[in-house]
Amino acid sequence: MKFPMEPYRIKVVESIPRTSRRERRQILEEAGYNLFSIPAGKVTIDLLTDSGTSAMSDNQWAGIMIGDESYAGSKNYFHFEKTVREIFGYKYVVPTHQGRVAENLLFSTTLKKGDVVPNNIHFDTTRANVEHNNGKAVDCVIDDALQPRAEHPFKGNMDLKKLEKVIREAGAENIPLCLMTITNNSGGGQPVSMDNIKATRKLLDQFNIPLYFDACRFAENCWFIKKRDPAYAGKDILSIAREIFSYGDGCTMSAKKDGLVNMGGFLCTNDHELAERITNMLILIEGFPTYGGLAGRDLEAMSLGLREVLDEAYLDFRIGQVQYLGESLIDVGVPILTPPGGHAIYLDAKEFLPNIPPDEYPAQALACALYEEGGIRGVEIGGLMFGHKDPVTGEDVWPELEMVRLAVPRRVYTTSHIHYVAEIIRDVYERRESIHGLELVYEAPVLRHFTARLRALNG
Ligand SMILES: *Cc1c(COP(=O)(O)O)cnc(C)c1O
Repeated sequence: MKFPMEPYRIKVVESIPRTSRRERRQILEEAGYNLFSIPAGKVTIDLLTDSGTSAMSDNQWAGIMIGDESYAGSKNYFHFEKTVREIFGYKYVVPTHQGRVAENLLFSTTLKKGDVVPNNIHFDTTRANVEHNNGKAVDCVIDDALQPRAEHPFKGNMDLKKLEKVIREAGAENIPLCLMTITNNSGGGQPVSMDNIKATRKLLDQFNIPLYFDACRFAENCWFIKKRDPAYAGKDILSIAREIFSYGDGCTMSAKKDGLVNMGGFLCTNDHELAERITNMLILIEGFPTYGGLAGRDLEAMSLGLREVLDEAYLDFRIGQVQYLGESLIDVGVPILTPPGGHAIYLDAKEFLPNIPPDEYPAQALACALYEEGGIRGVEIGGLMFGHKDPVTGEDVWPELEMVRLAVPRRVYTTSHIHYVAEIIRDVYERRESIHGLELVYEAPVLRHFTARLRALNG
């Protein structure tokens, strides 16, 4: 057997939509070749994101039934606070309805104009929240992370030389905190090593700069440390997590990822004075400190999810499933970014469709072809998302990489679904010469990929 069987059995089922190729062609045309505009009810396998798309366990659903919806001091809050303290080890725990609110709270209370926030790679909402608070978000990831096929066990690592340079240039007094994203989502879900976390902490200590984790996929990162660093082979996931967080001063978290819930998040800190300011802001924008934008039942589901995600059988399967999809594609010659990360596979559209030039959106064309072929929805991370006009010359600027990300939701799809996905991609790969580019016919002034409309160039 190539990877572990599902460590759960099915108690509730949800039918998945099936459509004909003819229907899908028409849907694509009506949606302006933008997969964000396709109703989920017309998607057979939805790999758009792993965020908020997890299946909850029977245990979590039972937790939903013991929701205490008291405005203040709900018992679910105390369970939640205790759980987070046990795993993350921080003193102050602030619930929020999702990760970006934790980011907003952190940056609106710590940044002054012109401040710099380093990270391995800022996730897009993180960068946006730093910039919205007049800060500058700087990425300091190792160079290997930017090479699609560089084999590195911890491709999410911080480059300490780059980090030190940023600190010396900006001045430590203008860096209120440094972030570390585990796993590094925008760099392909690649892990950060324990040694790198320790070394980052040591460097920051020289300058008295606090370290915060963007902890969305912390359990997946712990699993990689256990598998790839012999010093941790005998440790359990909880103790690895505790060690990671012991090197930090706090964290932001979107529980829509490794919290195994459909909505939820939190912010942690050890700084008493900062916690007070954050709590005051929380009351203004999210809610009272013992619910922070969530129902009591949601807090309960999140506490239970945070424990379930530490289960090694779950992680073996979860990350094993993503790796298995990656290997199935490599086996038939489909170009992907390697090594596969923890939550997604990235197809290399430049190599997949070498005849489609950047201004005909090869990655978007590939994403549409996967939908047409088998009703699979991925997301383009390429020219449609990141292409823009140079403000000075007015010329088109295209990103280095043209990718389609296939993010795998947690506990949702079985091995046969993964086989189906691999087969559809292989079929598309075999007929790749027949795939044509796209032409942009409408774009919004910002974040155009969400609402853009395109036209097929095959006449
Ligand atoms: C999803 C995500 C966020 C933002 O969380 P939301 O719950 O979507 O607001 C922040 N950082 C990383 C690394 C993420 O993956």
